[in-house]
Amino acid sequence: MKVMLIILDGMGDRPSEALGGLTPLEAAETPNMDALAKKGINGMMDPIAPGIRAGSDTAHLSILGYDPYEVYTGRGPFEAAGEGLELMPGDVAFRCNFATLTDGKISDRRAGRIKEGTHELAASLDGMEIDGVKVIFKESVEHRAVLVLRGEGLSANISDADPHALGPVHKVKPLDDSPEARRTADIVNTFVKESYERLKDHPVNIKRIEEELPPANIVLPRGAGMVPHLSSFTERYGIKAGAISGVSIVRGVCRLAGMDVLDVEGAKGTAKSDFHAKVVAGLEYLSNGGDFVLINMKAPDLFGHDSDPEGKRDIIEWIDSAFEPLNDVVDRGIIAITADHSTPCDVGDHSGDPVPLLIAGKGVRTDDVEEFGERSAMKGGLGQIRGNDLLNILFQLAGLSEKFGA
Ligand SMILES: [Zn+2]
Repeated sequence: MKVMLIILDGMGDRPSEALGGLTPLEAAETPNMDALAKKGINGMMDPIAPGIRAGSDTAHLSILGYDPYEVYTGRGPFEAAGEGLELMPGDVAFRCNFATLTDGKISDRRAGRIKEGTHELAASLDGMEIDGVKVIFKESVEHRAVLVLRGEGLSANISDADPHALGPVHKVKPLDDSPEARRTADIVNTFVKESYERLKDHPVNIKRIEEELPPANIVLPRGAGMVPHLSSFTERYGIKAGAISGVSIVRGVCRLAGMDVLDVEGAKGTAKSDFHAKVVAGLEYLSNGGDFVLINMKAPDLFGHDSDPEGKRDIIEWIDSAFEPLNDVVDRGIIAITADHSTPCDVGDHSGDPVPLLIAGKGVRTDDVEEFGERSAMKGGLGQIRGNDLLNILFQLAGLSEKFGA
């Protein structure tokens, strides 16, 4: 049987005064998720472990069966993989901003949110070599970019060049006594200096200065991370697995896990049709030979960060309307709906609260839960599980797992 796992990013929440003491999920009219909850089994899930405030990247790693404490050293590698860079274990990757340096100080951390010309600017930095280390550099959305260092003897245990504020560029420092950290810090400092040398008179910037726009004349790396060796998903579970997400770090986690990362039109969008397109693409992947598909929908998290409970409730209703096709297929496979973490509107950031989880499909035991929500899921038959156990549960139900022992 096939398995679809839908992750509503940051959907978990706390009771909200603005919603009469309900959470956004509880307050939302969600006939499709309610039908699945009623049909299946419900519970709570700690994405990593009880009380741990998970990031989207570490939570997805945990849910996909990896130990984030072992494989995660920073966000950079997942961001870079999500941008389509081919990474190798041992590479050190960073997130970067194009910024504006004026009289030796950062005067705009985002170079006026530059939109055009970053491909040309990035091309002038990509491929350089510093101290025998290869520099791979690629632009991302607007002022964002990714940097990868490839070579022997590197470390990700270094500080950021990005001062995260206006003022002087921070000198990158090693965060331990190892020669690797010292060397990598030196290389990044050289890269930052060289980025200014190569970008300050670049035609793209000459034009920006003429147009009175802040030039993108320096690159500020941050969030160094060592590219981990993730055992391939296919090898571990012996199945064909795909992922649909518009979020760079989620795409990166799935790509490094060896999953097929699908491009779906509107994957970043928040219109009803965009949510629908993802569900349709997921079902298509499964009917074309895929065994497992993960679909991430980012929108609830954004409303949590904006502390907007009504908006979060409404977007959950929109998402639910995209789940109508699932009612027709649920008896032929396994469907799970959950979140990667809670982003309570009252907190405006990720919290360590567990998230609701429903599993429905052929052969799935049922409980007395009648609707999908935090309170109702707490009464469900699954109890409280850890994210790391989720795939074992789903693949077992789908008949995709091997017996342990005789
Ligand atoms: Zn998330």
